Amino acid sequence: MKYTEIMVRYGELSTKGKNRNIFITRLASNVKKSLVDFPNVKVKAERDRMHLLLNGEDSTAIIPLLKKVFGIQNFSPSIYVEKDIEAIKAMAQSIMREIYTGKETFKITTKRSDRDFIQDSNELNLTLGNAIFDIFPNIKAQMKKPDINLRLEIRVDGAYLSYETIQGAGGLPVGSAGKGMLMLSGGIDSPVAGYYAMKRGVAIEAVHFASPPYTSEQALQKAKDLTKKLTPYVGGIQFIEVPFTEIQEEIKNHVPQGYWMTITRRMMMRLTDLIREQRKGLVIINGESLGQVASQTLHSMVAINEVTTTPVIRPVATMDKLEIIAVAEKIDTFELSILPFEDCCTIFAPPQPKTRPRLDKVQQYEERLDLEGMIERAMAGLKISEISASQAEEDFSDLL
Ligand code: ATP
Ligand code: MG
Repeated sequence: MKYTEIMVRYGELSTKGKNRNIFITRLASNVKKSLVDFPNVKVKAERDRMHLLLNGEDSTAIIPLLKKVFGIQNFSPSIYVEKDIEAIKAMAQSIMREIYTGKETFKITTKRSDRDFIQDSNELNLTLGNAIFDIFPNIKAQMKKPDINLRLEIRVDGAYLSYETIQGAGGLPVGSAGKGMLMLSGGIDSPVAGYYAMKRGVAIEAVHFASPPYTSEQALQKAKDLTKKLTPYVGGIQFIEVPFTEIQEEIKNHVPQGYWMTITRRMMMRLTDLIREQRKGLVIINGESLGQVASQTLHSMVAINEVTTTPVIRPVATMDKLEIIAVAEKIDTFELSILPFEDCCTIFAPPQPKTRPRLDKVQQYEERLDLEGMIERAMAGLKISEISASQAEEDFSDLL
């Protein structure tokens, strides 16, 4: 079917009262970003719905992208017809010829916003119903839950026919809630945490700690590839690489093993918070999940969190590993996450980390370190790059 436009119905944002316009504008801009590879598509955002005029672009490539844009309840690809009864009838028949297999029940639903059109909604329902009976005399009409609901919209600019309603991603438009820093490792949990934060409207920037030469170029690339997997929901994500080698070496040389992990995490948290402040983020997001490993006991969480008063959102904190994996599979990050490139935490992992770190000890050991100097040097060495959602770009980089 050659669609001419896609009609988008808003999700939860329609309940947001006077903020509605902000939400709609944000959604329109997110849709445009996710369709960068389709420059001819025109986005017309109205109060109740959004119309994507395809201008010849291929809907089969666009539909999967649209399914990932948060803030969309559902959408219907539709076909433009001139506002002429015969033309509308002919198109309705041609659609039914294509989709009717001989078994389904059907219904016509007409919505008329052009009050001057010669037939009203009821008359149009009858006209089109009869046109369908003309070609399929045995087809059954059914008003409640028909298998096929053929929708007709008579707008000022033309008539539109659709029969499919495709489920959207729900949630809120990314960015409508502000921005947060996602602490992104190469593991399973943090990309899932980023996905959930975006789903509730938080724009993210990815902060990744790398400790070359202990961590490899592949581990860094893996974190970037995971970030890329999150871009379809938003269009583009800033990737911030933090040089972490000196800090990890210093911790290893001056702190007893049992506290390596706690102090390493505190350093990550401090740095992420500084980056957040510089880049005007509001919150920190991470992939901590209760009880998974030593760093994720409640006692550890308290000791790590002590370095900041910034809210830390932990979307997967109370999920089981298997539940997190199911989401990772759904968003297609799982296969990447299980690639065996070790990150900084694996390599510097102490054999027996404290599951109940004591704050007085933590502070005592941190006094042995030049915290300020190390933080300053790490901040001076940040490498920031934009990871875009464009497929074209990805193909291009493969050729290099
Ligand atoms: P993940 O699967 O996300 O790696 P994990 O189960 O391996 O999580 P930890 O290694 O304890 O758990 O890490 C907890 C969280 O700390 C991660 O989810 C991530 O948000 C953050 N984190 C860990 N390592 C890094 C890193 N190298 N860069 C950025 N953030 C990190
Ligand atoms: Mg990890």
